[in-house]
Amino acid sequence: MVLDKKQVMRITLTLLTGMALLGCKNVDTPDDHKEDIKPNIVFILADDHAYQAISAYGSNLINTPNIDRIAQEGALMEEARVTNSICSPSRAVILTGKYSHVNGMMNNGTRFNTAQEIFPKILGRQGYKTAMIGKWHLFNNPEGFDYWDILPDQGHYYNPQFIRMGKDTVYNGYVTDVITDLSLNWIEKNKDQPFCIMVQEKAPHRNWMPPLKYLDKFNDKKFKLPENFYDDHEGRQALQRQLTSITGGYLDIRYDSKVSCDTCAVTDVNWWAPAEWKREIERLTPKERKVWDSAYAKEAQAFAKLKGEKEIIEWQYQRYLEDYLRCIQSVDDNVGRILDYLEDNDLAENTIVVYMSDQGFYLGEHGLYDKRYMYREAFRTPMMIRYPKKIPANQKIDAFTLNLDLAPTFLDYAGINIPQEMQGKSMKALLSSKEKDTVAWRDKVYYHYYEKSFGSTAHYGIRDKRYKLIHFYDPIDSWEFYDLKKDPTEMHNVYDAPENQQKIQELMAEMLKLQQQYGDEEAIKLNSK
Ligand code: CA
Repeated sequence: MVLDKKQVMRITLTLLTGMALLGCKNVDTPDDHKEDIKPNIVFILADDHAYQAISAYGSNLINTPNIDRIAQEGALMEEARVTNSICSPSRAVILTGKYSHVNGMMNNGTRFNTAQEIFPKILGRQGYKTAMIGKWHLFNNPEGFDYWDILPDQGHYYNPQFIRMGKDTVYNGYVTDVITDLSLNWIEKNKDQPFCIMVQEKAPHRNWMPPLKYLDKFNDKKFKLPENFYDDHEGRQALQRQLTSITGGYLDIRYDSKVSCDTCAVTDVNWWAPAEWKREIERLTPKERKVWDSAYAKEAQAFAKLKGEKEIIEWQYQRYLEDYLRCIQSVDDNVGRILDYLEDNDLAENTIVVYMSDQGFYLGEHGLYDKRYMYREAFRTPMMIRYPKKIPANQKIDAFTLNLDLAPTFLDYAGINIPQEMQGKSMKALLSSKEKDTVAWRDKVYYHYYEKSFGSTAHYGIRDKRYKLIHFYDPIDSWEFYDLKKDPTEMHNVYDAPENQQKIQELMAEMLKLQQQYGDEEAIKLNSK
């Protein structure tokens, strides 16, 4: 077998970090002059990337070799969570290290107050060059970055419009490739000083438009339905009023399932987004459109033959997964480009690379697509961190880490004091070979979601290692309680069971403590409702 330069470098890097783990070199010992060099930071944020669709998390849906490299050469956070499972609020939590009720970004569509402190501003004041590239989604122009080139609002998959330092720009190509090109161009110009770049993907956000090269990928696969796909939501009032299930028929046949069949006699399926679909598909050039239409022509034919609601729903589930995973395959390729660039430029050793999503996502569990709920798949996010100089390779960390923890972690590694007001916790000790077994870490997570769009209900809750307590409060009022050991897929709300009352009272008390600690006054008032 002949190895190319990149493979040799990758193997060397893995061996070196592996040797450090075995004690050949203690990674935590300040090693001479190198200690003075501040680490670079490459933060890659996917949008709506479910951990169920990453092979490092054991996915059997897709192989993601490049994303997996970050975990293999660093740490896989197995129990990472978000404090509010929705796009814009999670981004604000990451930037500020503060809960939504403190940073003010409680819902999608709110304007982020850019005057407040965010970790890139602090890094900038300490000599870092900083950039924000891709999906910003905070309804304001970024402040506190040396350079920014962002998608307006949700952005487009094809030939996307960007706002570059306030100026409207259109780039030719597929959005995930464009974001990588822009990011690597910026790193190339700024790699001689400490830099921090936030590479924020649009993919794999709805409406899941894949790049042309992957339009046929997964065609030969038949995805198995999750065991709780046909969940009837019994005992869970909030789920009974949601508008984000595949089983409820809430996927648009054209916008989501890409049936470009204007002559099909479809009357009883969902067509909610004709304007949105037109807006997206018209961005393709005539040449791109030809390839696209040819790839999806067979879908229109297959769709025309479907009989009955169940057949349509199960077919839409297959279509959903195919396009979703095709988008992720392209994200994985582009993560590989970034990692290769760092290795080729001798930057890998001293660069912290994080890959995570702004939240988790449902891939048919409970019949759902989308996010929002404190149920497992949306609450839990993928998160992995590589920093060969300080973090031993091949670690699996099962502590509850949060999107809240990124800002303090980056500042800590950069040797900068973490502001008192930040509510997250630096993961540095957790990721260190010396301290990880003794570090005091949270064993409970507090969550608060505010948005009411798509039939969702505002709720807050607490999860410890075994139990989960949730209070849905607006527009309906209901409590839910789960024993995750007995019921890991959260199918049975056992809030009213007499044998659980003592545990529920204990969790209520723990939740109140966290609400007081984080200053969530609104929730404290709602507890007794
Ligand atoms: Ca998102």
